[in-house]
Amino acid sequence: MTIAAHDLESVPICNLCGSTECRRSFSRNGWQFRICAQCGLGRTDPRPTSQSLGEYYGEDYWRRGFKGEQYTPKEIKHLLYRYGRRASYLKRYKRRGYLLEIGTGFGFFLESARRRGYGVQGLEYSAWVAEKARSMFNLPIRNTSVAEFDPGHVKYDLIVAWHVLEHLANPLEAMQRIRSWLKDDGIFAVEVPNCGSVDAARLGDKWEGWTAPHHLWHFTPQALQQMLEKAGFHVVGTKYGRSTYIRHRLKRYPVLRWFRCLVDCWYKGTWVRMVAAPKPSAGRQE
Ligand SMILES: [Zn+2]
Repeated sequence: MTIAAHDLESVPICNLCGSTECRRSFSRNGWQFRICAQCGLGRTDPRPTSQSLGEYYGEDYWRRGFKGEQYTPKEIKHLLYRYGRRASYLKRYKRRGYLLEIGTGFGFFLESARRRGYGVQGLEYSAWVAEKARSMFNLPIRNTSVAEFDPGHVKYDLIVAWHVLEHLANPLEAMQRIRSWLKDDGIFAVEVPNCGSVDAARLGDKWEGWTAPHHLWHFTPQALQQMLEKAGFHVVGTKYGRSTYIRHRLKRYPVLRWFRCLVDCWYKGTWVRMVAAPKPSAGRQE
């Protein structure tokens, strides 16, 4: 898709630390990426304006990696199991309660959370995929954005955002809004691509996480933690995905497969998940 110049905006300031300086910049597929000199948060610059961004999240975007209504019962069962592992992970932090998912996609995580006993509510920016999720699972999903959603007096026990923050124009502001929707003893679970991973370091600009224009911000674990803290949270748990790069390397040396688990623990992989709790004082500042 060709994008007109007037549909682009520059991003001169880091969303986390406010610095205008960059320590590194590079381009991939015609898009420019810059890494903040102060905090290491990456950004796509220039990026689509908020008015033009919606064009990138139509039916085509969702059909690229998902099959929508063409899922077979066997595939649905498999995906509910796969996404259900995230819901099971959350059980160690909050066994029950009212859960809000931001960016539901087709609703596989939200449905698996509901089947594990959570009360659920979802937000999905794309009207097309929100309707598909509702028709597949009859889930309560609102077609709106973090910036526009108003939960009224409702407070949530858990809020989750799986691979969503990197798509938002202002993730710090989104985290601050999320903080205001949580109960004081609630938890916020977030997962993003890890641009501080061995995959990103070894593959350079070929790393799949440098995706534009959909990914507007690019997080290292340190940048994610700092942003959570700035938004009024403290991190209570961190988990990393496996390194795709290391897994492929190990295939060359079959004997090392026996040590795969150890190697996976050592190399922090292609995504990072953090579970955060509100700082006690943050709620009183609202
Ligand atoms: Zn910065």
